[in-house]
Amino acid sequence: MPARISSSTELTDKELDRYSRHLLLDDFTIEHQRTIRQAQIGVIGCGGLGGLVAMQLAAAGVGRLDLFDEDSVEVSNLQRQLFFTTDDLGRPKTQALGERIKQLNPHVNYTANQYRFPDSCQTQPKKWHIIIDCTDNFKTRFAINRWSLQHKVPLISGAAIEYQGLVGLLNTQKQSPCYQCIFSEESNTSHSGTPSDTTHIGQRCADLGVINSLLGVISSLQSHLALEFLRHSHAPTKIWQIDLKTMQMRSSHTTKDPFCSACYN
Ligand SMILES: [Zn+2]
Repeated sequence: MPARISSSTELTDKELDRYSRHLLLDDFTIEHQRTIRQAQIGVIGCGGLGGLVAMQLAAAGVGRLDLFDEDSVEVSNLQRQLFFTTDDLGRPKTQALGERIKQLNPHVNYTANQYRFPDSCQTQPKKWHIIIDCTDNFKTRFAINRWSLQHKVPLISGAAIEYQGLVGLLNTQKQSPCYQCIFSEESNTSHSGTPSDTTHIGQRCADLGVINSLLGVISSLQSHLALEFLRHSHAPTKIWQIDLKTMQMRSSHTTKDPFCSACYN
């Protein structure tokens, strides 16, 4: 389980005002908002998913976001990465996104790490309460999964391609399946425990394209799962599939692979 979040200091009047629409909810307490403020989250990938996730978490008041992406802003990004502007072309994504975060919510701290996670994973902070995978390739996703298991940091995974997306929360508990239990590292396809129509999730937007609204749907679900996990300190491992062509969302039954090389011990 992740480190228990301490939330000792009171919210200021400015914070109470800023987060008032949260606090009006029947089941959303000041303590929840203080817990969110104390949270530290790693956002891996700052493209269409990661940028929107980071902006939503910043707006919600997450205390610190560590951003990872080795790329710079390209013109083809602007169709869906609406936190960048044309003036950002050529700039490192983590730097431009960090500036947007501060403009949106000056209470939030961030670090901009312009390299591919987890190339320097041994030096990365171990105090994250959640790690969010917003990358676009299986090699990095499996590496993030192993890091999550090693450090017992819950993983929220997202993927989007064409009109279909996938969101998963993997809580790293011993009895729960991990990402690699569900997706095979050898074949880069889903195991039989998940429907076959998610297998193309391993392909990239650069190859097949993606409808821009899908990124908003998937990233919103990822940030929602993160905030719910912070508020309740626990959630079961679960995978959801979303298809914007049919407007369907369904959860998948997932089982632990007894031969998984990532979580077997
Ligand atoms: Zn596993």
